[in-house]
Amino acid sequence: MKLRSTSYDLKLKHTFTISRSSRDVSPVVLVEIEHDGIVGYGEAAPSRRYGETIETVQQFLSGLDLARFYDPFQLEQILDAVHGAAEANYSAKAAVDIALHDWIGRKMNLPLWKYWGLDKGKAPITSFTIGIDTPDVIERKVREAEEYPILKIKLGGENDIEIIRTIRKITKKTLRVDANEGWKVRETAVEKIRWLEQEGVEFVEQPMPAADLEGTAWVRERVNLPLIADENSIRLHDVPKLQGAFDGINIKLMKCTGLREAIQMVHTARACGMKVMVGCMIETSVAISAAAQFTPLIDYADLDGAALTTNDPFDGVGIVEGRLVLSDRPGIGVTRKDLN
Ligand SMILES: [Mg+2]
Repeated sequence: MKLRSTSYDLKLKHTFTISRSSRDVSPVVLVEIEHDGIVGYGEAAPSRRYGETIETVQQFLSGLDLARFYDPFQLEQILDAVHGAAEANYSAKAAVDIALHDWIGRKMNLPLWKYWGLDKGKAPITSFTIGIDTPDVIERKVREAEEYPILKIKLGGENDIEIIRTIRKITKKTLRVDANEGWKVRETAVEKIRWLEQEGVEFVEQPMPAADLEGTAWVRERVNLPLIADENSIRLHDVPKLQGAFDGINIKLMKCTGLREAIQMVHTARACGMKVMVGCMIETSVAISAAAQFTPLIDYADLDGAALTTNDPFDGVGIVEGRLVLSDRPGIGVTRKDLN
C-alpha cells in the first residue's frame, strides 16, 4: 500500500472573512493511497484553529508506514495505527481515512452511500456561505448565490445588524447564522439571537467561545433559536458533553479525523437527542464528496467549500438548486479533471 501526498493551493472566488480570519487562497494536501492497481483519494484541509498547517500535515503523513498492512480492508487496524502515531493532527488523519474509504468503495465498485445502505434521495439541501464583508460586496455575493435556497451568514463582527439588514433587503430566503465564537458577552449573544429570530433565521452556530460552554448553556435558556456546536464539537467524545448547551452538532471531517468517526458522531448525537449538521472547510471536491456520502443521515448540510473556489481539480458531488446530488460513481464519487 503506497501513500502519496502533494500540497495544492485552492483559490477563492472572493476574499473569505469570518470573525477571526481573512484569506484569498486556502492550501490543502491531496493524498492518494494506491494498492492493487486502484487509487483512493483523500484530502487534508488544515486549520490553525485546531493547530494544523500544511507543514504539520505533511510531517504527519511522511511518518506513517502503511507498507506493513497488506490491504485497505484492514480499515479499523490501519486507522487505529494512524491515531496511535500522534495526538491531534485531525485533518491529516482525515486524509488517510477518506483515501482508504474511497479505495474500498472503488474496489467493491460501490458508492459509499450505497455500501452504507443509505437513500441518496434523502441527501439534503446545502447552504451557501456568505462571509463577513461590506454591504455592497455582501449584496453581490447574495445575488451570485441565487440558485441556493438557504444561505449561511457569517456574523460575530462589528456590523452584524447591517449585514442581516442588507441581505433581508434582497431576499426572504432561509438564513442560518454562524458567529464563529464571535459574541464574547452572554447578554450580547442573547440580544443578537433574539433579534435574529425576528429576521427569520433558522439556527445559530457557535455563538460563544468554545471555552465558555457554561455561558452557552446560559444563553440557550434565554433564546428560542436552536444552537449548533461547531468549535465545541470536534471529536466523538465531545458530543455527550454538549447536552444542555447546544441543540445540535456540526460535524466536519477535518475536525473529527474522517468518515469512521463522523458516522459514530451522528449516532451518538442521535442518542443524545441532538440535531446533526455536516460542514466543511475550504476543500476540493474530494473532502466535500466524502462528507456528502453520509448526508442522507443528517438534518442540515453546509458543504459549499468547493463551490467557493475557482480551481477545484476534481469533479464530485453535484449541487442542483442547492440540493446535493450523489452520483453512482464508486467510493467517494470523484474523478480527477485532468484524467477525464
Ligand atoms: Mg462554523
